[in-house]
Amino acid sequence: MNKRWTIDKIREFTEKNSTSKLLSKEYHGFSQKLLFKCECGNNFEKTFTKFNKNNQRKCDVCQPPKEPRGA
Ligand SMILES: [Zn+2]
Repeated sequence: MNKRWTIDKIREFTEKNSTSKLLSKEYHGFSQKLLFKCECGNNFEKTFTKFNKNNQRKCDVCQPPKEPRGA
């Protein structure tokens, strides 16, 4: 199954499934980082794969990465 995403579909998905907003205007593929705006006001970059499949739908402040860093 190969779902074809467009920037419009991603924007719609983002609005329906998260509190973030999509700022990017173009989508060139799954490896591209898209720019989002978190509900807290931070901008963050994420590939759509991570946003969608890994549920990473907020910035690193609101949703810190699971792996602790700098320990
Ligand atoms: Zn945030």
